[in-house]
Order: sequence, then structure tokens, then C-alpha cells
Amino acid sequence: MKHATIFSALALFTFGCSRTPTSSSPSGHADERYVQKVTCVNNLKQIGLAFRTWSADHHDKFPCNVSTNEGGGLELIALDKFGFDTNAVFYLKNMHGPEILTVPLLLVCPQDSSKSAAVDWSNLGLENISYKFTASYKIIPDSKEILAVCPVDGYILYCDGTVLDKDGKTPKADH
Ligand SMILES: [Zn+2]
Repeated sequence: MKHATIFSALALFTFGCSRTPTSSSPSGHADERYVQKVTCVNNLKQIGLAFRTWSADHHDKFPCNVSTNEGGGLELIALDKFGFDTNAVFYLKNMHGPEILTVPLLLVCPQDSSKSAAVDWSNLGLENISYKFTASYKIIPDSKEILAVCPVDGYILYCDGTVLDKDGKTPKADH
């Protein structure tokens, strides 16, 4: 996994957002946007927690390093040119439960109008997932590797559960 590749992907994805500073928006819109950003950060934190909880039952491994026979996605990994697994949907479908992924809505960034929450887990498809997930042998709990990103606002979830913005800072929405 090359970070440079992922970061350049983020730069591409977030270009549209960065052209519209929140400060120039009417206050109502800015408030809504703030709530959406907080929700996205919380989604990513919940996803990070879900992966870590899931790994506790799977030899301390994340799904990309666990066989499909055990609910992971190892044999199905298909990386796009930015290093994101286009088949993550197959293991995400199996990661739901009270202490893991609780509702399909967690996989949708509120600022992403192109995606909507799946009605149930069995119907989860690419159209229901905003976040992009990486896959490599380095994707293990507690590492500082990137686990997932939000392509809309550039938030990054690291394997250790930390969420930072694309500049490597704690998201402002988190304060
Ligand atoms: Zn987002």
C-alpha cells in the first residue's frame, strides 16, 4: 500500500469540496454541513471500532486478511488503481451485529448524495457505501496504516481507530 497513491486519490476526490469554503455559506447551511461532518467522523470511528471488535473473534486480523470461509474477504480482494478494495462490500455484508456494524447507515457519508443506506444487510451494494477500504497484509489492528477514507470530505480512518482529516489533523468537526 502506497500512501502517496491514496493521498493523491483523496486530493482528487475532495477537490470539489475544497472549492466551497463553509464560511461563505449561509449559517443554516453551515450548521447542517457541520452536523454532516460530525456524523461522518462518528461513522468512521464506529467502523474502526467494528473492525477491531470483529478482529478479536478472528485471530486479531481485519477482514481483508481473513478467508471468506471465516467471513473475511481475503480471496476476493480487488484493488483499484488507488489501492482501495472494490470488493469490500462482500465482507461488510457479514460484519453486522450489536457490537460491530449496527446499521447500514454507518456506511454512508451524509454529504454523499450519490449513496443511500441499504434497506438491510443482505441487500448491501456499492450504491450503499460511501467509504473506501484499503487491503494489504499491513492492514492489522493497532497499525498506523490507512483502513478507510471518506472520498467526499477526505477524512481518514487508521487501523488503530484514529480519524484524521486529509491534512493529518484531528477533524474540526470533532471539537
Ligand atoms: Zn464523509
